[in-house]
Amino acid sequence: MKINKILEKKKTVSFEIFPPKNKEGDISSIYSTVEKLKDLNPDFISVTYGSGGSTIGKTIEIADVIKNEYKIESVAHFTGVVSTKKDANDFCQKLKECNVENILALRGDKPQDASIVCSNDFQYSNDLVAHIQRNFPEDFSIAGACYPEVHQEADCMENDLKALKAKVDAGATFLITQIFYDNNYYYHLVREARKIGINVPILAGIMPALNAKQLLRTTKLCGCTVPYDLITKIERYYNNDAAMQEVGINYAVHQMIDLIANDVDGLHIYTMNRPEIAKNIFAQIPNILKDL
Ligand code: FAD
Repeated sequence: MKINKILEKKKTVSFEIFPPKNKEGDISSIYSTVEKLKDLNPDFISVTYGSGGSTIGKTIEIADVIKNEYKIESVAHFTGVVSTKKDANDFCQKLKECNVENILALRGDKPQDASIVCSNDFQYSNDLVAHIQRNFPEDFSIAGACYPEVHQEADCMENDLKALKAKVDAGATFLITQIFYDNNYYYHLVREARKIGINVPILAGIMPALNAKQLLRTTKLCGCTVPYDLITKIERYYNNDAAMQEVGINYAVHQMIDLIANDVDGLHIYTMNRPEIAKNIFAQIPNILKDL
């Protein structure tokens, strides 16, 4: 089923996983993660796409298994930066053949590996969205990414929002945010987006902080603010991963309660392939999640 159709009826709770990064290309380990996530009854699971196209086959295969064996809706990510129009068509055709009806269309980041050649077919994600919409008009619910704290390459929020509007006008039917640890950025983004006529659902991306070093690395990479009350805990538990994990789970629970109370369109949990963390979070707010 297309995710935009689900979103017409209800708010969604979903997970993101990534293809395992092992040399042998063995992806079977991801399925024990999916098995455990299934117990939490998600509305969909999305599968990331390695920058530079490194996971192309794995992304499709995992999205296929999630949909057809686990009977959970799946979303396959795809990036345009290194892809040609033919690559995009082949990717969409394969998804279509396995009845995966959802695609997160991204521009992606330029690969750091200089040997990977960038394509000029898709300058921005809206070019990719428009291409998929034109060539597969009935086949997909297309999603796009958005940035509560503004994308790092954008010179200001106003221009970032104009680009977001172009993505939606090209055919994106729902949006998923970059991670954030201060909900006010999400509320601000939604408010400003609505003002300029972006009316599609905006799902909040939540990444539980699991250890201090990973949190600082990720937030630096994404340009995401770490609020003062989280900084004090990072300092306190910098070398105590077990304690920091408890802080991270607790923080995510509080973020989610606040978002739900403020009528969030949906919650998308970046699981980092750690289903036990998602389980732990969900165990603390079963009734709140039921009443989404
Ligand atoms: P765009 O929407 O193209 O935006 C990029 C920049 O260009 C922004 O600054 C924007 O303001 C500007 N811009 C956009 N359109 C225009 C326009 N028409 N004119 C002028 N300026 C414009 N990366 C991966 O490699 N694999 C993944 O699986 C993956 N999954 C992700 C999932 C989510 C939910 C998010 C939020 C990000 C994900 N990323 C992934 C990271 C993403 O690829 C990067 O953030 C990338 O830098 C931007 O991709 P985009 O699709 O948002 O780009």
